Amino acid sequence: MPEGDTVWNTARVLHRALAGAALTGSDFRVPQLATTDLTGWTVRESASRGKHLLLRLAAPEERSDVRHWTLHSHLRMDGAWRAYAPGERWAARPAHLIRVVLRAPSAVAVGYHLHELALLPTVEEESLVGHLGPDLLGPDWDAAEAVRRLAAHPEATIGEALLDQRNLAGVGNLYKCEVLFLRGLSPWTPVGAVPDLAGTVALAQRLLAANRGRWTQSTTGSLHRGGTSYVYGRRAQPCRRCGTAIRKEELGERVTYWCPRCQPAPDPAQSPDPIQP
Ligand SMILES: [Zn+2]
Repeated sequence: MPEGDTVWNTARVLHRALAGAALTGSDFRVPQLATTDLTGWTVRESASRGKHLLLRLAAPEERSDVRHWTLHSHLRMDGAWRAYAPGERWAARPAHLIRVVLRAPSAVAVGYHLHELALLPTVEEESLVGHLGPDLLGPDWDAAEAVRRLAAHPEATIGEALLDQRNLAGVGNLYKCEVLFLRGLSPWTPVGAVPDLAGTVALAQRLLAANRGRWTQSTTGSLHRGGTSYVYGRRAQPCRRCGTAIRKEELGERVTYWCPRCQPAPDPAQSPDPIQP
């Protein structure tokens, strides 16, 4: 599941593969960029902001009107970038999912099933990412500002508020479910009723940061298959803490996983199916 840490890792892979290189070819397979050719462009750096990827490029000298450009992409649920050695088989995903190929002398970057692929002047990046709250893995992470943004909507459920990238950028469904379990919070708790919002935000940041630099996401400390989460993806399996069957329900536009015993609803009316004593 591409969450902030996956996007951060992807940005680093692209940076290592392409930064400083002059592109020897490009192949865009999306209508809006079908005629774009980045041959001769230099890759300056690759960065992430929340779940957005920003590949920053310099146009060749002769295109002096705007020199610095950003190739923006978003992975959403299913996108991915891979870096291959020249001549290596592109085996990560089926070829029909390829949206862009960037060729450099020592690496080929292939973007699969990317969303919101756009090339824009770097000075206009804010038009795409300016609405985002503080980036949990960004160099300018600001916990107090994230708490302030969350607290500004006390009636929202904490489950939906943590996913709202305008509050804080980088938490996806996996980390949302796991943070709420570890804090003993029902996903339906109103933000205004969360006892320690700052502690919840700090835990989210620690979980994402702990998974930087590896592709297996774990919140339990275990990297073994089937052991990497407390509640996420574990519907009907026993809670690792109390043995109660983990539940899965819709919450807003997403599903949520939780333990009804470890994460009791603060007010039975808030829960879709309150537990009877
Ligand atoms: Zn439990």
